[in-house]
Amino acid sequence: MAHTCIHWFRKGLRLHDNPALMAALRDCKELYPVFILDPYLYNNTLVGINRWRFLIGCLKDLDCSLRKLNSRLFVVRGKPEEVFPKLFEKWKVTKLTYEYDTEPYSLSRDKTVTTLAKEHGVEVVYKISHTIHDMDRIIEENNGKAPLTYNRFRTILKTIGNPKKPIPAPAIEDTKDVKTPCSENHDKNYGIPTLEDLGHDTTTLGEEKFPGGEQEALRRLDENLARKDWVCKFEKPQTSPNSLSPSTTVLSPYVTFGCLSARTFWWRVTEVYQGKKHSEPPVSLHGQLLWREFYYAAGVGIPNFDKMEGNPVCTQVDWDTNPEYLAAWREARTGLPFIDAIMTQLRQEGWIHHLARHAVACFLTRGDLWINWEEGQKVFEYLLLDGDWALNAGNWQWLSASAFFHQYFRVYSPVAFGKKTDKNGDYIKKYLPLLKKFPAQYIYEPWKAPRSVQQAAGCIVGKDYPQPIVQHEVISKKNIQRMKLAYAKRSADSAESPNESPSKKQGVKRKAKSVIDMLQKKDKKE
Ligand code: FAD
Repeated sequence: MAHTCIHWFRKGLRLHDNPALMAALRDCKELYPVFILDPYLYNNTLVGINRWRFLIGCLKDLDCSLRKLNSRLFVVRGKPEEVFPKLFEKWKVTKLTYEYDTEPYSLSRDKTVTTLAKEHGVEVVYKISHTIHDMDRIIEENNGKAPLTYNRFRTILKTIGNPKKPIPAPAIEDTKDVKTPCSENHDKNYGIPTLEDLGHDTTTLGEEKFPGGEQEALRRLDENLARKDWVCKFEKPQTSPNSLSPSTTVLSPYVTFGCLSARTFWWRVTEVYQGKKHSEPPVSLHGQLLWREFYYAAGVGIPNFDKMEGNPVCTQVDWDTNPEYLAAWREARTGLPFIDAIMTQLRQEGWIHHLARHAVACFLTRGDLWINWEEGQKVFEYLLLDGDWALNAGNWQWLSASAFFHQYFRVYSPVAFGKKTDKNGDYIKKYLPLLKKFPAQYIYEPWKAPRSVQQAAGCIVGKDYPQPIVQHEVISKKNIQRMKLAYAKRSADSAESPNESPSKKQGVKRKAKSVIDMLQKKDKKE
């Protein structure tokens, strides 16, 4: 039977390595490529203007590529569970295809839509291509639980073997018998919205450093991987948080929206490595992609992964509620130039280096401000182009030493850390031009500059630029003690109820050690 098919683009905003799209094209007479502006995911409280702009770029690029296959993208607004029944009837749909998505909201949404599809006699086909591996398989191989250490994760991967090879984008021959019925009013009814349509004031928008879309993703991939020596020698800790142009690939927004397939990324790096000496995980480029897989598995296997409470791997900490501190951090006015420069870059450009994320995340949580990592997670989600549910939650837990990383006594200094790679403070001068006339000696600590130096720099601390909101040397020591208490309480609680393992709560049959046991074992090893 020749199908009338909807291919539902959500993430996976690409044609290359898109097995669900290829499944749509099989036995297909009519194809409707659909993107739904779901108000749960896409609203102006969750998504900042830069990420909206990136998404619009992705959709335009996708529409452009679809046109080359004599098709078009249909952008529809509304809740998927309300949109689909109408589309099924209107277009007489017989098949629905989509890329599998493991986020909790996506899983429940897809369950509802699948039920509705079945009620309408629509066949549903989904394929795994947002991650390199099948997350459910990883969890199955690890006795029904998410691996909690990178080493354990890699051991599991060894049993699974090499990732699948990516598949090519559909060619015009693949669509020669397929029609996409489009009316003259297509743009009016199903066009891609502008930022203005979405209620944004675009007058304050900065330069678009990272335009969205598959073509740009593949171009950036080519550009990065052409530096073969750099790829082979890549070691993440050796890259710089404050270089003036990015010291890593900045492929994350493209991978997050699925403009770039993680499998394609993986195999292209493999090609570069071929026959050459190269760095290894966790620090290599392959290693970075495996961190992504690691957090995705954690997001699938650990309940309430984006929260502290009810999250069995997350240390429970008595974080403070301090809206003034939180606002100062978010709005880049902590009075600590390195932190404020990073937060300014984040607000303006939507991307910051991994180690810059380390610095501001540690500062917000266990280092200085003692604010719950969930608050930082929300701010990142809103401002980052690459905002990703699992990666954001997992990395925030790591940086706040709430899970995965336990050396809470190792705190980043908001002064010394940046100096290691940028003595002159050129990065600070770029993002905080107000401070650009300070001599290098004071750029990280302008409050220490004599009044005459502040006057000569045209910036008086306390008037033109804030005094530091905390004294790092004092507060960080106090916070280490608070963290020590939280860890002690965690150990005491687990001693009191040793059987309260998450696997037991989830009713997993195979006997396994509790998460706390495993964490403690890991601590000992380290
Ligand atoms: P590269 O070093 O070039 O790495 C290549 C790819 O590997 C990245 O594109 C990304 O897909 C993956 N990757 C790299 N580092 C990590 C990591 N630590 N964890 C998981 N995957 C990784 N990354 C996001 O994509 N979305 C987020 O919401 C996000 N939130 C974060 C929050 C905090 C507090 C921290 C510390 C890190 C967060 N990261 C997040 C991880 C990491 O900082 C970014 O993936 C990375 O900086 C992206 O830059 P890149 O593409 O140049 O990375």
